[in-house]
Amino acid sequence: MRIFDPHIHMTSRTTDDYQAMAAAGIRALVEPAFWLGQPRTSVGSFVDYFDGLLGWEPFRAAGFGVRHHCALALNPKEANDPRCREVLDVLDRYLAKDRVVAVGEVGYDSMTPQEDEVFAIQLDKARRHDLPVLVHTPHRDKRAGTLRSLDVVRESGLPPERVLLDHLNELTVAPVLEAGCWAGFSIYPDTKMDERRMVAVLREHGTERILVNSAADWGRSDPLKTVRTAEAMLAAGFDDKDVDRVLWRNPVEFYGQSGRLVLDEEPDPVAESFLGSSVRRGEVGE
Ligand SMILES: [Zn+2]
Repeated sequence: MRIFDPHIHMTSRTTDDYQAMAAAGIRALVEPAFWLGQPRTSVGSFVDYFDGLLGWEPFRAAGFGVRHHCALALNPKEANDPRCREVLDVLDRYLAKDRVVAVGEVGYDSMTPQEDEVFAIQLDKARRHDLPVLVHTPHRDKRAGTLRSLDVVRESGLPPERVLLDHLNELTVAPVLEAGCWAGFSIYPDTKMDERRMVAVLREHGTERILVNSAADWGRSDPLKTVRTAEAMLAAGFDDKDVDRVLWRNPVEFYGQSGRLVLDEEPDPVAESFLGSSVRRGEVGE
């Protein structure tokens, strides 16, 4: 089984998680930029965070043979903080970088006018940089937030197949697929979507344009939920091809639109530059 986690926040996970993920078949992932829990007070915090997503995290991942890519953006929550706006000015420089395979996470948190504005600006950046977009849908008032996100995407003129709406559920999947966008599902340990409900969604809507992620971060979450979903699919009668489609080929196809996914077995250049020093494969840090 080969697995691609299209949405996971590895910055908040331990090295043991990388080890367990690699052992379970997770070979590649995308880490979207998000809120750090503690509010950021200046653009410098974003710059350091983005540099970490482009340097240290790919290196840590490569130690376990996991390909790390990222999506960068000003997240919906901090779109409301005027101290963070300046990041929109430095974003273009980062969106030009090789490992950045999408603009994200963008979208709505509380659906404020500030979020409207930042969402539209970043969709325009995606168009100009020819990158796909990862859209976070709000946890409160999800259906209204999803429908409004689809309207904003439509107004942006971006082709729907370049847009992934994430954190969907049974109530929001149909309008997203009907709009021609990709549908992402985050599988959590005890709230929101679980693997049993995910299997039911796949039975009803098929496997096309559907992605499954763990969205693991500092909260209660499990970086192996992609694997658990694959197992639940097999137990429910889906075959290996269906599993490979949802857990590998779909994310590869979606983020592959960036032209920047690296999934071959060639040595990883970032890791090599670190590995050239005293650190050897699998032995990250001290
Ligand atoms: Zn996230």
